[in-house]
Amino acid sequence: MEQLPTYDDVVRAHERIAPHAHRTPVLTSRLTDAELGLSLFFKCENLQRMGAFKFRGAFNALSRFDAEQRRAGVVAFSSGNHAQAVALAASLLGIAATIVMPHDAPAAKLAATKGYGANVVPYDRYTEDREEIGAALAKERGLTLIPPYDHPHVMAGQGTAAKELFEETGPLDALFVPLGGGGLLSGTLLSAGALSPSCEVYGVEPEAGDDGRRSLREGRIVHIDTPATIADGAQTQHLGAHTFPVIRDRVTDIVTVPDAQLVACMRLFASRMKLVVEPTGCLGLAAATALAERYRGRRVGVIVSGGNVDVSRFAALVG
Ligand SMILES: *Cc1c(COP(=O)(O)O)cnc(C)c1O
Repeated sequence: MEQLPTYDDVVRAHERIAPHAHRTPVLTSRLTDAELGLSLFFKCENLQRMGAFKFRGAFNALSRFDAEQRRAGVVAFSSGNHAQAVALAASLLGIAATIVMPHDAPAAKLAATKGYGANVVPYDRYTEDREEIGAALAKERGLTLIPPYDHPHVMAGQGTAAKELFEETGPLDALFVPLGGGGLLSGTLLSAGALSPSCEVYGVEPEAGDDGRRSLREGRIVHIDTPATIADGAQTQHLGAHTFPVIRDRVTDIVTVPDAQLVACMRLFASRMKLVVEPTGCLGLAAATALAERYRGRRVGVIVSGGNVDVSRFAALVG
């Protein structure tokens, strides 16, 4: 296993990413604050390039390729946002990208990935193993595999969103972070540890896919079947070998929220804040709402992780 990243790696990642990524806004909602009795700060990564924080990790990882890796190209497997992130980062850096994607991925995500010029290889996420397919392609064609979360350069890149948040808000009392494979959460924990050490940081999973919470309880990486949830960005089956130790050692807790609460948050973001947020991007607010009593009167951050959802699907969910 490669060395685990530190906050120093997040700082260096930020230097590489900053000229190419948006510094996304930190928004507030006075009405929501009044209703929940909190001061909420929303880090809006739904407004990041390609629509999610994943651009940060992908760009950091690809910008560290040597000349030989750049020449051969990159391969990635993803249910959507990581695919778009690698495709966009690769096109910016002049690297060829091959993306292994589920054949039933949201249409907008598939189209966007192809639109960035990537070569898309479809697979069946209920019967085939994307990691095996990705590894085989890497070996056959000499491509460098960049996984969606379990990589030190990806983790360091994802940590730059929380770095920007804390730089803007100062220390916070709590921070709620969507959790799939743990790239975003582990990177966030590195930034929180350096910039707001007393901040209580929560990972938030969909109720149907609570492998992270169980892993924390059992002290080992628990594997589950692909969970049935509308939070497609968190349909991961297990935490990573690199992300788990960081999460285990630093996270306050991992909590879960039901899909119905994600829909309620999509409505709130749209109607009140004029934001289109995908279901996975609502995990943080759903958990902050559930735990509002615990942080009454305190300053609470929420990472709004992404906004990539087909308009027709968005309308069907919130309608
Ligand atoms: C990938 C993703 C997540 C989960 O991130 P991990 O690093 O896998 O934990 C959360 N929200 C969105 C929008 C994502 O694309």
